[in-house]
Amino acid sequence: MIVVLKPKTSEKEIKQVTDKIKKFGLTPHISRGVERTIIGAVGDERLMNQNQVLAMPYVEKVMPILKPYKLVSREFRKENTIVDVRGVKIGGKKVVVMAGPCSVESRVQLMTTAKAVKVAGATILRGGAYKPRTSPYAFQGMEEEGLKLLAEARKATGLPIITEVMSELDVDIVGDYTDIFQIGARNMQNFKLLKRVGKTKIPVLLKRGLSATLMELLMSAEYVMAEGNHNVILCERGIRTFCDHTRNTLDLNIVPVLKKLTHLPVIVDPSHGTGKADLVNPMSRAGIACGADGLIIEVHPNPVEAVSDGDQSLLPKDFAKLMKDIKPIAQAVGRTI
Ligand code: PEP
Ligand code: MN
Repeated sequence: MIVVLKPKTSEKEIKQVTDKIKKFGLTPHISRGVERTIIGAVGDERLMNQNQVLAMPYVEKVMPILKPYKLVSREFRKENTIVDVRGVKIGGKKVVVMAGPCSVESRVQLMTTAKAVKVAGATILRGGAYKPRTSPYAFQGMEEEGLKLLAEARKATGLPIITEVMSELDVDIVGDYTDIFQIGARNMQNFKLLKRVGKTKIPVLLKRGLSATLMELLMSAEYVMAEGNHNVILCERGIRTFCDHTRNTLDLNIVPVLKKLTHLPVIVDPSHGTGKADLVNPMSRAGIACGADGLIIEVHPNPVEAVSDGDQSLLPKDFAKLMKDIKPIAQAVGRTI
C-alpha cells in the first residue's frame, strides 16, 4: 500500500501515519520527495484499514500496489534515486564510470590501474578481492589483502571503491573497507546475502543474474530495500542466450524498461556483457545512448597476463579513448561525464 501525504506535512504528522501503519502490523518506509512525502506500507495489505488511514487530515490518497515489487517502484518514489558515494552521485545528470581490474592481483597492478583510470576520468575504482570463479582451481582472489590494497588505492587517488561480497559471512569484513558492495550475477538470488547487505547503510550494486528476468532482478532489489537499505544500483551485465559470438548477450532493452518501472540508478557492464575488449567501447556508447546512469568497465595494465577476464579487459590507453568517445553520446542525451 502506498500512502501519499499532502504537501508540507510535518515530521510529527508523518510519525502519526507511520505509527498507524505499524499498528496494522505493516512496516512503513518513508520516501521524502521534493514536493511531498510518500510512505510505503509493506506487509499484508489486507490487515490495513484503508479508510482509517485515508481519514487522517494530511493523507491525500492511499493506493494499493498491484505489482509484487513495491519499494523499487516508480509509484513509491517518482524522483530518481541518487546514490551518494563519498560525494560521487550515481543516478544524477552526470554519467558515472567505475573502472579497474577484474581481480586485485598486486599493489603494482592495482595502483597502476587506479592512477590511469583516475587520469582518464573514472570516478569510482572497481576491483575484486573475493572472486566467483567457475572453476574451484582458478584464482579465488586476494581476500582481505586485496581489500587493503583497494583502500590504499582509494587513499592515493581519492576514488571511492566498489568490490564484490560473495557471502553473508564476509559482509562485515568487506564492509569495513568498501564504499559499495557489489553483488555478483551468480549471487543475485542469494537471499540471505541480500538481506544481510540490506541491514547495512553501504550502497549495493546488484548485478542481474545470468538468466534472471526483469521481475526477478527487481524482486532481489526489493529484498535489499525491505531491510532498510534504499541505496541500490541495478546493473545489466549480459545474460545467457543461444548467441555464441559474445560471452553473454548485453540486454540493453532492459535499461529503458528499468528506468520506467523503477527510480533506482541503472548501470551497464559491457565488459562481462560482451567478453571481448574490442566490443566494450561501442557497447559503452550504446549503454549511455539508451539511458544508463553509468558504466562499470574492466581495465588492466597488461590484459594478456591478467589472472581473470583478460580477454575483456581494456588497456589504460583504450580506456582513455573510451572516456573521450562516450562524451558526445552523453551530451546528445542530455547528460554530462
Ligand atoms: C566481475 O565484476 O568481475 C564479475 C564477476 O561480474 P559478474 O558477477 O557480472 O559475472
Ligand atoms: Mn570480471
